[in-house]
Amino acid sequence: MLVKARKKRVLVSSCLLNEMCRYDGTKKMNIADDLKDYEIISFCPEKFMGVPRKKISLEMINENINVVCEDGMNLTKVLSTEIDDFMNACESFDKIILKSKSPSCGFKTTPILDEGEIKIANGLLVHKLLEVYDEAIFFDETNYKENIC
Ligand code: SF4
Repeated sequence: MLVKARKKRVLVSSCLLNEMCRYDGTKKMNIADDLKDYEIISFCPEKFMGVPRKKISLEMINENINVVCEDGMNLTKVLSTEIDDFMNACESFDKIILKSKSPSCGFKTTPILDEGEIKIANGLLVHKLLEVYDEAIFFDETNYKENIC
Protein backbone atom coordinates (compact mmCIF):
# COMPACT_ATOMS: atom_id res chain seq x y z
CA MET A 1 0.00 0.00 0.00
CA LEU A 2 1.30 3.43 -0.94
CA VAL A 3 1.43 5.92 1.90
CA LYS A 4 1.16 9.50 0.74
CA ALA A 5 3.90 11.65 2.24
CA ARG A 6 2.62 14.64 4.15
CA LYS A 7 3.38 18.07 2.80
CA LYS A 8 6.07 19.94 4.66
CA ARG A 9 4.56 22.43 7.07
CA VAL A 10 5.65 26.05 7.11
CA LEU A 11 4.67 28.73 9.62
CA VAL A 12 4.57 32.18 8.04
CA SER A 13 4.08 35.66 9.49
CA SER A 14 0.64 36.66 8.24
CA CYS A 15 1.71 40.01 6.80
CA LEU A 16 3.88 38.06 4.32
CA LEU A 17 0.71 36.35 3.07
CA ASN A 18 -1.24 39.40 1.96
CA GLU A 19 -2.93 39.94 5.34
CA MET A 20 -3.34 43.61 6.23
CA CYS A 21 -2.38 43.05 9.85
CA ARG A 22 0.59 45.39 10.32
CA TYR A 23 0.25 48.11 12.97
CA ASP A 24 -0.69 50.66 10.30
CA GLY A 25 -3.21 48.32 8.64
CA THR A 26 -1.02 47.41 5.68
CA LYS A 27 0.43 44.14 4.47
CA LYS A 28 4.08 43.57 3.67
CA MET A 29 4.05 41.19 0.70
CA ASN A 30 2.60 37.90 -0.52
CA ILE A 31 4.95 34.93 -0.70
CA ALA A 32 2.19 32.29 -0.90
CA ASP A 33 2.90 31.48 -4.55
CA ASP A 34 6.43 30.43 -3.62
CA LEU A 35 5.11 27.97 -1.03
CA LYS A 36 2.83 25.79 -3.16
CA ASP A 37 4.60 22.62 -2.04
CA TYR A 38 3.97 23.41 1.62
CA GLU A 39 1.09 23.32 4.04
CA ILE A 40 1.01 26.96 5.14
CA ILE A 41 0.11 28.00 8.66
CA SER A 42 -0.34 31.77 8.96
CA PHE A 43 0.00 33.57 12.28
CA CYS A 44 0.07 37.19 13.37
CA PRO A 45 0.58 37.42 17.13
CA GLU A 46 -0.46 41.09 17.20
CA LYS A 47 -3.64 40.74 15.16
CA PHE A 48 -5.84 40.51 18.26
CA MET A 49 -4.91 44.13 19.01
CA GLY A 50 -6.65 45.27 15.81
CA VAL A 51 -5.52 47.74 13.14
CA PRO A 52 -4.41 50.42 13.10
CA ARG A 53 -2.76 50.04 16.49
CA LYS A 54 -0.02 51.79 18.40
CA LYS A 55 3.53 50.64 17.78
CA ILE A 56 5.20 48.32 20.25
CA SER A 57 8.88 47.77 20.99
CA LEU A 58 10.99 45.46 23.12
CA GLU A 59 12.87 46.33 26.27
CA MET A 60 14.91 44.20 28.64
CA ILE A 61 13.70 44.69 32.22
CA ASN A 62 15.29 42.63 35.00
CA GLU A 63 16.80 40.34 32.33
CA ASN A 64 13.39 39.57 30.84
CA ILE A 65 12.02 40.63 27.46
CA ASN A 66 9.18 43.12 27.85
CA VAL A 67 6.78 44.37 25.21
CA VAL A 68 6.13 48.07 25.65
CA CYS A 69 3.51 50.03 23.74
CA GLU A 70 4.25 53.59 22.61
CA ASP A 71 1.56 54.78 25.04
CA GLY A 72 3.61 53.27 27.88
CA MET A 73 1.47 50.19 28.54
CA ASN A 74 3.31 46.94 29.19
CA LEU A 75 1.79 44.32 26.86
CA THR A 76 4.15 41.46 27.64
CA LYS A 77 1.54 39.31 29.34
CA VAL A 78 -1.22 39.66 26.75
CA LEU A 79 1.11 39.10 23.81
CA SER A 80 2.74 36.12 25.53
CA THR A 81 -0.66 34.58 26.18
CA GLU A 82 -1.67 35.02 22.56
CA ILE A 83 1.52 33.31 21.39
CA ASP A 84 1.28 30.51 23.97
CA ASP A 85 -2.33 29.76 22.97
CA PHE A 86 -1.31 29.52 19.32
CA MET A 87 1.66 27.27 20.05
CA ASN A 88 -0.38 24.99 22.29
CA ALA A 89 -2.71 24.34 19.35
CA CYS A 90 0.10 23.63 16.87
CA GLU A 91 2.03 20.59 15.82
CA SER A 92 5.57 20.76 14.51
CA PHE A 93 6.82 22.94 11.68
CA ASP A 94 9.49 22.10 9.13
CA LYS A 95 10.24 25.71 8.31
CA ILE A 96 9.37 29.07 9.77
CA ILE A 97 9.36 32.27 7.68
CA LEU A 98 9.18 35.49 9.65
CA LYS A 99 8.91 39.21 9.06
CA SER A 100 12.26 40.80 9.84
CA LYS A 101 12.73 43.55 12.45
CA SER A 102 9.29 43.10 14.01
CA PRO A 103 9.04 43.17 17.84
CA SER A 104 7.07 39.93 17.57
CA CYS A 105 8.33 38.20 14.44
CA GLY A 106 11.88 39.39 13.88
CA PHE A 107 14.51 36.66 13.66
CA LYS A 108 17.89 38.03 14.81
CA THR A 109 16.87 41.42 13.43
CA THR A 110 14.69 43.04 16.11
CA PRO A 111 15.91 46.12 18.00
CA ILE A 112 15.68 45.73 21.78
CA LEU A 113 16.49 48.36 24.39
CA ASP A 114 18.90 46.90 26.90
CA GLU A 115 20.50 49.06 29.59
CA GLY A 116 20.15 52.18 27.47
CA GLU A 117 21.58 50.58 24.34
CA ILE A 118 19.80 49.25 21.27
CA LYS A 119 20.80 45.65 20.61
CA ILE A 120 19.60 43.31 17.86
CA ALA A 121 17.82 40.13 18.93
CA ASN A 122 14.76 37.95 18.30
CA GLY A 123 11.17 39.13 18.57
CA LEU A 124 8.97 37.70 21.31
CA LEU A 125 7.29 35.13 19.05
CA VAL A 126 10.65 33.89 17.78
CA HIS A 127 12.04 33.73 21.29
CA LYS A 128 9.19 31.38 22.22
CA LEU A 129 9.23 29.37 18.98
CA LEU A 130 12.92 28.59 19.37
CA GLU A 131 12.27 27.04 22.78
CA VAL A 132 9.82 24.51 21.31
CA TYR A 133 10.46 24.06 17.60
CA ASP A 134 14.21 23.67 17.75
CA GLU A 135 14.24 21.32 14.76
CA ALA A 136 12.53 23.78 12.42
CA ILE A 137 14.56 25.96 10.06
CA PHE A 138 14.06 29.67 10.69
CA PHE A 139 14.50 32.47 8.18
CA ASP A 140 12.78 35.66 7.07
CA GLU A 141 11.43 37.42 4.01
CA THR A 142 14.91 38.59 3.03
CA ASN A 143 16.29 35.11 2.44
CA TYR A 144 13.39 32.64 2.27
CA LYS A 145 13.73 31.94 -1.46
CA GLU A 146 17.06 30.20 -1.12
CA ASN A 147 15.75 28.12 1.76
CA ILE A 148 12.42 26.68 0.59
CA CYS A 149 13.60 24.17 -2.01
S1 SF4 B 1 5.40 41.17 11.61
FE1 SF4 B 1 4.31 39.59 12.77
S2 SF4 B 1 3.17 40.74 14.32
FE2 SF4 B 1 3.78 42.20 12.76
S3 SF4 B 1 2.06 42.27 11.35
FE3 SF4 B 1 3.48 40.75 10.56
S4 SF4 B 1 2.73 38.82 11.37
FE4 SF4 B 1 1.79 40.46 12.58
